[in-house]
Amino acid sequence: MNSVFKVSFIPFVAAFLAAAGCAHGDGSQGAVSSSAARAGQLSNVAVSPNDNMNAVLWMQTAAEYRGNSLVIYQSAAGKLSHVIAAKDHTASIEQGEMAGCVPGHPCANAKFKKMPAAIVLDIDETVLDNSAYQARLIRDNAQWDANTWDEWIASREAGAIPGAVDFIRAVKESGAAVVYITNRNCSVRSKNAGADPCPQREDTLENMKALGFPSLSGKDLLLLQNQRPEWGASEKRARREYVAKSYRIAMLIGDDLGDLAPDVKNLPIDGRFDEVNKYRDLYGVYWFQLANPTYGSWMNPFKGKDKRDFLRYD
Ligand SMILES: [Mg+2]
Repeated sequence: MNSVFKVSFIPFVAAFLAAAGCAHGDGSQGAVSSSAARAGQLSNVAVSPNDNMNAVLWMQTAAEYRGNSLVIYQSAAGKLSHVIAAKDHTASIEQGEMAGCVPGHPCANAKFKKMPAAIVLDIDETVLDNSAYQARLIRDNAQWDANTWDEWIASREAGAIPGAVDFIRAVKESGAAVVYITNRNCSVRSKNAGADPCPQREDTLENMKALGFPSLSGKDLLLLQNQRPEWGASEKRARREYVAKSYRIAMLIGDDLGDLAPDVKNLPIDGRFDEVNKYRDLYGVYWFQLANPTYGSWMNPFKGKDKRDFLRYD
């Protein structure tokens, strides 16, 4: 092991562990010595090399990231009237399976034709920006941790992804339901009898309200991980199936392939590419994907391996 490798390897491992932890939460990251964050010691902390540095900087500082997010949301808004009017179409693989149909294609006798249309979105790095949390991870060389991630949720400090507020307002004006499916995890914070079993729900809604997102109303839903015992997994298939019983899933939006398709989070890279190719016609009409270079199931193939082995040189 040469000295260069020694210097770079420790933060590499720390960053990898942080990313690995993400896969258990929502994908989101870990926290950070929140005490240091509160103390505002940003300027005095030495920053180690970290392989998440460019990704977080891109989200926070690149006009290109903002432009990319606006493309996604403004394109999605432009398709709203089309997908809402297409009553014999579903965006959901699960709903297609339940009806014996292919998503994005006509399904003549499906029950969902008479159901209210729903626009289904993920939350973290889809409508809420948690990059400040990521930045603190880099600063503190910290690893993802469920408790500190929950402290971040409780702080209600997340920002809005560019274009998201206007898009949700457009959905509300369209009359379709807004359905959020998030891997923010319901967990009680107090041992007191009768304590809120899911304070993360109100934290999320209040955080979004402060950013200008319309409040939930009518048939809108927010479905968290572990809100029901059968929703314990980060896999979202069960929650999309639940939604598909009462709504026609007209559009899906997320930053992770798992927000669009079931059972993809642990596929190898080729399998993930195959999934995208199989459903390529859905993209840009029924499916919209935000960019998230900082974490997500795209990193799962690297778990326990040296990422450099995945680089391609030709
Ligand atoms: Mg997400």
